[in-house]
Amino acid sequence: MAKATAQKKAKRAAPKRTQLVYAFGKKTDGNGTMKALLGGKGANLAEMSRIGLPVPPGFTITTEVCIDFDKNNHSFPAGLEKEVEKAIKDIERQGGKKFGDAKNPLLFSVRSGARDSMPGMMDTILNLGLNDKTVEALAAKSNNPRFAYDCYRRFIQMYGDVVMGVQPEDEHAHEPFDEVMEGLKKEVGVKEDTDLTTEHLKELISRYKALIKKKTGASFPQDVFKQLYGSVGAVFKSWNNDRAILYRRKYKIPHEWGTAVNVQAMVFGNSGDTSATGVAFTRDPATGENVIYGEYLINAQGEDVVAGVRTPHTISKLDEEMPQAYKELLEIRKKLEKHFKDMQDFEFTVEDNHFYMLQTRNGKRTGLAAIRIATEMVKQRLIDWKTAVTRIPPESISSLLVPIFDMDARKKVAVIGSGLPAGPGAASGKIVFSADDAERLSDKGERVVLCRVETSPEDLRGMLASEGILTSRGGVSSHAALVARQMGKVCVCGADGIVIDYRRKTLTAGSVTLKEFDDISIDGTTGEVFAGYVPTAPSEVNQVLAGKLKADKSYTYQIFDQVMKWADRARKLNIRTNSDTPLQATQAIALGAEGIGLCRTEHMFFDGDRITSMREMIIAQNDKDRQSALKKLLPHQRSDFAGLFKAMKGYPVTIRLLDPPLHEFLPHDDTSIRALAEKLEIPQETIVERVKALHEQNPMLGHRGCRLGITYPEITEMQARAIFEAAAQVMKLKNAPKVEPEIMVPLVGYPGELKNQVDIIHRVAAEVMEKKKVKIDYLVGTMIEVPRAALVADQIADTAEFFSFGTNDLTQTTLGMSRDDSGNFLRIYQNLEILPANPFASVDTGGVGELMRIAVEKGRKSRKKIKLGICGEHGGDPDSVKFCHEIGLNYVSCSPNRVPVARLAAAQAALGA
Ligand code: PEP
Ligand code: MG
Repeated sequence: MAKATAQKKAKRAAPKRTQLVYAFGKKTDGNGTMKALLGGKGANLAEMSRIGLPVPPGFTITTEVCIDFDKNNHSFPAGLEKEVEKAIKDIERQGGKKFGDAKNPLLFSVRSGARDSMPGMMDTILNLGLNDKTVEALAAKSNNPRFAYDCYRRFIQMYGDVVMGVQPEDEHAHEPFDEVMEGLKKEVGVKEDTDLTTEHLKELISRYKALIKKKTGASFPQDVFKQLYGSVGAVFKSWNNDRAILYRRKYKIPHEWGTAVNVQAMVFGNSGDTSATGVAFTRDPATGENVIYGEYLINAQGEDVVAGVRTPHTISKLDEEMPQAYKELLEIRKKLEKHFKDMQDFEFTVEDNHFYMLQTRNGKRTGLAAIRIATEMVKQRLIDWKTAVTRIPPESISSLLVPIFDMDARKKVAVIGSGLPAGPGAASGKIVFSADDAERLSDKGERVVLCRVETSPEDLRGMLASEGILTSRGGVSSHAALVARQMGKVCVCGADGIVIDYRRKTLTAGSVTLKEFDDISIDGTTGEVFAGYVPTAPSEVNQVLAGKLKADKSYTYQIFDQVMKWADRARKLNIRTNSDTPLQATQAIALGAEGIGLCRTEHMFFDGDRITSMREMIIAQNDKDRQSALKKLLPHQRSDFAGLFKAMKGYPVTIRLLDPPLHEFLPHDDTSIRALAEKLEIPQETIVERVKALHEQNPMLGHRGCRLGITYPEITEMQARAIFEAAAQVMKLKNAPKVEPEIMVPLVGYPGELKNQVDIIHRVAAEVMEKKKVKIDYLVGTMIEVPRAALVADQIADTAEFFSFGTNDLTQTTLGMSRDDSGNFLRIYQNLEILPANPFASVDTGGVGELMRIAVEKGRKSRKKIKLGICGEHGGDPDSVKFCHEIGLNYVSCSPNRVPVARLAAAQAALGA
């Protein structure tokens, strides 16, 4: 009994791994491969130490401690304190400073660092170890009391905010510490923070302390170890703040990873005019150009640059202001790329002309930059072409296909200001000033541009919902810029001639004042801001593909083309497109499509006056009337198919027979019913009656798909005839392309359904071939879009020569979730993490995917050479493309603009990326 109680009281055991703390600096325990345990930042600090870069010493507390801390009610595991204390002693020995010492104090920064970087999502504390005593020592040692008290007030502010929770009450409120600072500045009559004297800073410190006491009831702690553990705990907790969770959801970072915490000896960029701090990229992250890129501030601390409080200088100016540091910076740039073999985004500090590296990581980049960097690094022989292919996020390719401004329209609107071009592309929309408004309006289908003085991670959801982001403060590595770039959003930041007033809800640039919901346009490539709406035009790549711009005039096109060629060399999957018109098909071929995977014939009936003949066919009360309406449709269909065959230049074309519920084609309002009655010269009541008769409770599960062709065989007959006659016609042309129709029957569940339709198709084919004296190679197949079809795929493959997974319907029918009505609850499901992703966007591999596997296996068992593809929307989703590669499909089919994305995703799947 006594033993049991003692056990209960004893501290619980440490996590499985024995080492909880890894040192870096002169003595380094970890290395760059240990990202899972040390986080990206910790692993790279260790790696930089190993290759001899100047890294201030420190230690990393592992991600395992974070998980443990989380599971155990926010308590630290046994043994942690001992390891931390030992690590601190080592650092003290290296630098001669002592933590908490009243004469020569050692100060720390405490930073988060997850396996994948999550910029700005978690918390950071700087200058830790300052208290009423150590601040005096720092003042004396540095011979710069102003600097010491400025560090102290910054620490109290950060600690008060992050650890003690003194934060703005809502998104319209100002930072409480900023308000206190602004109040004091007004009182003493100064404009800039830097104008505050030591005495002012002392006063500020006592006001900050009072603010903390008032807001929390607790005092700011003087005990440096209490400060340290408070900060480490706060950083661990910040792994689970709302913005970090939202970020992880968007970038599919598992919640179980946890973050590491890096505790590192402080070096001061704010200790005078021979000190500076900055952020740099080894190449331009917006364009990918091979030049050093970044910014810095003299006499400042790191967060001043990132938070965008002061607008920093561009990095090249460092050459004038601190030539020695600039030389070192360029050397380090070279070393970093040579060692890490990727573009690096790094933070540095110059303390009294000594250069220090605080962090490095693979830099986030725009789609354009990803492509340029990858291709140029192959040229420089830093990486090989396969690595280049795996480096480019497939989604980023689409940013090269994004619209740019219509130049004529752009000339007609006024430029009202400009800022830093931080996320290329063109965006136009209504001004909103808060994340809430951005979400609300975009949910209603409005395009919005989020305008903020500076963004904080709280704005993430608003940024997601916006076409573009405009900020009046901050540099190219501010939060707004980093996140926008990663999201592929258009972004202009640091437009300091623009005044944004949240309370009045206005944006003023010189004499122009715009209100919320007024139109605004921003150019994230040039940094210009325009009043009014500017329509957008196709991207440079698209212009080359459309023959409007010469390939040798567009470097962007050339590198895009290079990557696509590499992707094609690597991939195993064919890429087709879902296209219903020759124009779409032509665009898709230009983007690399190798066939049409789905032509939805019903879409062809919306053109011109065809809808009238279609409606006439549906209204028909008897076979004779139906036949006569179909006769009118036949020539339209024939010429549409001929157009497609010609446009596809010999590539296969999958044509799907009529699929949707017929009532979709009927008029429903009085005016259109009257107009149709007049056109068809029949009484209005006949139409009203017929619309009523065709009404279904569940049209998606009703009279659609092959059920139409089975109940009205004349529809299938007409469509088959149109296809074969068109094929015969094109085959007889001079220089005729190969014509290879693949006729697809939708919504089949029973082998008999398919057989019924295929009999008609074969009969009509024979008739046309006989009459036209040609031999047409064609295939018949089916969509697999109801679970039953997947389960009896072997029997269906007796008749079907190909399967195409209709994953839109297959998801709908497997999940019993309406594809049209699931928007409302799916978002909540995703927030609650019931679902990892929207199953209508990314294949639900556990359910729908299993059915696909079964169908692939059974289909191939009964017909070894059966052609297998996918034509649901998932065909353009990189994760789903990977899945399709894994289960051994022959092709994926997607909308034209997604074709390059699918090509790259397929290559990455083949390369095992
Ligand atoms: C599907 O269901 O996945 C499909 C491609 O067909 P549709 O979207 O036309 O129903
Ligand atoms: Mg379907």
